[in-house]
Amino acid sequence: MEGKAKRMWALPGAEFIANAAAIMHGGSTELYAMPVPCYLIEHPKGLVLFDTGCSPRMLDGINDYLGAFASVIRLRFSKELVVDAQIRALGYRLEDVRYVVASHLHFDHAGGLYLFPHARFLVMANELRYAWWPIPEHRLILNINDLMPTRNFNWLEIDGDYDLFGDGSIQMLKTPGHTPGECSLLIRLPNRTVVLTGDTTHLRAALEGEITMPGDVDPETAVRSMRRLKAIRDLHEATLLISHDPEDWAAFPHAPAAIE
Ligand SMILES: [Zn+2]
Repeated sequence: MEGKAKRMWALPGAEFIANAAAIMHGGSTELYAMPVPCYLIEHPKGLVLFDTGCSPRMLDGINDYLGAFASVIRLRFSKELVVDAQIRALGYRLEDVRYVVASHLHFDHAGGLYLFPHARFLVMANELRYAWWPIPEHRLILNINDLMPTRNFNWLEIDGDYDLFGDGSIQMLKTPGHTPGECSLLIRLPNRTVVLTGDTTHLRAALEGEITMPGDVDPETAVRSMRRLKAIRDLHEATLLISHDPEDWAAFPHAPAAIE
């Protein structure tokens, strides 16, 4: 089916001062500003938010919020960059967001979930269990403070690709490996097709070389998911947008400019 979303916005968020080696085996140790964005998509039937960035509550005290993890993170973040401020700046209310799609539930993607109690939350199978009761090595990157307020939200766990509005315009793609329930989002816009890859891969060089990152729960599955994304890119003539890649981020317009 050939439905189209109307437009989307790349919403700037926090930036981590980090190096490629932290997110790709064999990457450079040179520091750079790593983008941590979210994406808002307008469909005739409602707004869809893909990821929610770092928690606005981190601004009130990062040590309180992240605990021991705060000491290993360097970031730039401000009140204008939190996801709710970004959505309001576009003229929407938070209640206008109908669906929140979580690429996965690491703290740099799940921090704003609590802001959308009216929405329906879509997440791929196995992610909730992983996030709520993580393996010990992942207990810092999955923050219980992000999840606790969402415990009674309207979560829908899906096990496979999912067409949100039944018209082919916005589709969740199952791309696990980084986490058990990692997913990507394909969006057909008026003039182009985009795939938001979440953390299925972290850098363009990692995708091209099919290189995993130190924290992936299942590297073999992660490589299969990267190959899947490349096949979808070729078959759909789609542009992949890798969330943490600074060049991908720079190549697209940012809100308030829309992508069509
Ligand atoms: Zn992640």
